[in-house]
Amino acid sequence: MQHGVERAQSNCQLIVQIAMRSLRIDKQAFCRAYAESAAVRHMVQVSNELLIEQVQQTAACHALHSAEQRLARWLLQCHDYAGDTTLDLTQDFVSEMLGVRRTTVSFIAHNLQAERLIQYRRGHVKVLDRQALENRSCECYALVAGCRTVRVKPLAVPPGDGRDADLASS
Ligand SMILES: [Zn+2]
Repeated sequence: MQHGVERAQSNCQLIVQIAMRSLRIDKQAFCRAYAESAAVRHMVQVSNELLIEQVQQTAACHALHSAEQRLARWLLQCHDYAGDTTLDLTQDFVSEMLGVRRTTVSFIAHNLQAERLIQYRRGHVKVLDRQALENRSCECYALVAGCRTVRVKPLAVPPGDGRDADLASS
């Protein structure tokens, strides 16, 4: 039996936005885990739902909110994923991610640094005052982060799915 993940062929190129440790898995091993584990299928479903919600919110964010609000939101999201207070980000890359000129990123980053919300030096951003950065962000950050918090918690193995124990021990 063929599952959706085996047939999936993406026409998108993926990029890693921030330097951090990550893991990868062989496609066949992933497909086997997906087929045999309800917990893995649940994680994939939740991940897809969160991605769609984030893409939709980001589209609205780009249309409605200021470059400063979007930069604050994006830094907070990077900070969440990296799990560290220092991010390796060039102004060119940030300007591309936000769809604004590099000079706009430079101006906003300079202001955020002057107010001690961040420290920005040669492609390294350190979040100094996370709460102040959240206050400076638009509501999009809290909406997406809230969805993630609510949906990721119930990732426990569904009752009666004994195959997950087999996967863990093999
Ligand atoms: Zn927004």
